[in-house]
Amino acid sequence: MDAFLNAAPQGVAIFGATGSIGQSTLAVLRLHPARYRVHALIAHRRLEVLWPDLLAFRPAVVGVACPQAAAALRIRLQQEWVGSGCPQVLDQPDEIAALAADPAVSIVVAAIVGTAGLASTWAAVCAGKRVLLANKESLVAAGALMMQAAQASGAVLLPVDSEHNAIFQCLPVGVPPVDAVEKLLLTASGGPFRTRPLAAFADITVADACRHPNWSMGRKISVDSASMMNKGLEVIEAAWLFGVPPARIEVVVHPQSIIHSMVQFADGSVLAQMGRPDMRTPIAHALAWPDRVASGVAPLDLCALTGLHFERPDPSRFPCLQLAYDGLALGGAAPLIINAANEVAVAAFLSEQLPFLGIAAVIRATLDRALAGTAFAAAESIAEVLEQDQRARALAEAVMAQLFGARVASSLDYHSFG
Ligand code: NAD
Ligand code: MG
Repeated sequence: MDAFLNAAPQGVAIFGATGSIGQSTLAVLRLHPARYRVHALIAHRRLEVLWPDLLAFRPAVVGVACPQAAAALRIRLQQEWVGSGCPQVLDQPDEIAALAADPAVSIVVAAIVGTAGLASTWAAVCAGKRVLLANKESLVAAGALMMQAAQASGAVLLPVDSEHNAIFQCLPVGVPPVDAVEKLLLTASGGPFRTRPLAAFADITVADACRHPNWSMGRKISVDSASMMNKGLEVIEAAWLFGVPPARIEVVVHPQSIIHSMVQFADGSVLAQMGRPDMRTPIAHALAWPDRVASGVAPLDLCALTGLHFERPDPSRFPCLQLAYDGLALGGAAPLIINAANEVAVAAFLSEQLPFLGIAAVIRATLDRALAGTAFAAAESIAEVLEQDQRARALAEAVMAQLFGARVASSLDYHSFG
């Protein structure tokens, strides 16, 4: 601890600073100014959220992906910034992604939602940074390439996703898990529709799907949690991060979200990580690992808990979970296609153009159609991943129009919410 206090603060870049994970990260960093210095904040366009953080953290650089919002920010900085150190504003995608490789940055928080986060996560991994990975979609779309690049560059990939962070904490340090581990037990809350009668699934609204019982999150991951596609993406994420085959990754529904995941070992031991459902805990863990720092989260009061319950996920209720296992079994570009189709379908659902039940149907039909052709071999470069992602999206949009008559507006983009 003292060594850290005597050292210069570590430079941090937060991609997705205005989002749920970005804001939780800033809440933790606020507690440790001697240890961490915010070098760069990156967001899409929500200046009303970004502005107070610019004043509080005074980063050297700000990346704003929406050019109109970047222009508005430059004007506001010119008019209102007081003192020295006015942040430089970048709005070109290449320049923004390159911030992840900046020598002034040691820690990159990858918290952009969706494959929009792929380029910056890739830049951080290739530059050998300490990468706090929240953006699971980049691992789902490009897992093989990301893991190879991390090994080559020496990047330290630390999972922020609460389940993967829990598993990381339960695994013995430095031991390849495959031999010692019998199963990874990924817990899932079951989301808002765990007990909703199946007959009432046709009436699910955006508000219903975004109302998660335990976690407060961005809108895309909230819908993913409601469909359990989130857990499916997490199964794929776990397979890449921990090198464990899908047959040894099991999903257990645990509605209280107190146990964040478990590891079952060959001798019958099961290790669990527990805590309040608050992302500041895994964020603080990944920031400081192998050290520990305060996160601002209140201690868990075990005696106040009314019980810890577990059940198997219901496949008829949550077809997206099986889709993810199918994608892993198929391998190659299948997870990428599933992820892209899900992003398109969720954006359409959020803009009330697709019913909730249409999400799984669009993903399944897109996957079937993509695999019927020959155009989706496993990608060998990130450029190829991005190109396949675009093609899979176009295919999903066509499928959606055909199956549901859903017309895709040009503004169809859940990023417009962030
Ligand atoms: P969010 O919607 O609250 O925030 C998304 C952030 O990404 C915003 O800051 C937005 O401005 C930014 N963004 C979107 N498109 C961008 C672009 N093109 N360029 C730059 N910035 C862009 O989402 P969230 O809930 O914070 O989730 C972020 C990621 O973390 C997702 O991949 C999600 O799966 C993962 N995650 C979230 C949680 C959680 O509790 N929220 C938990 C585990 C994993
Ligand atoms: Mg999670």
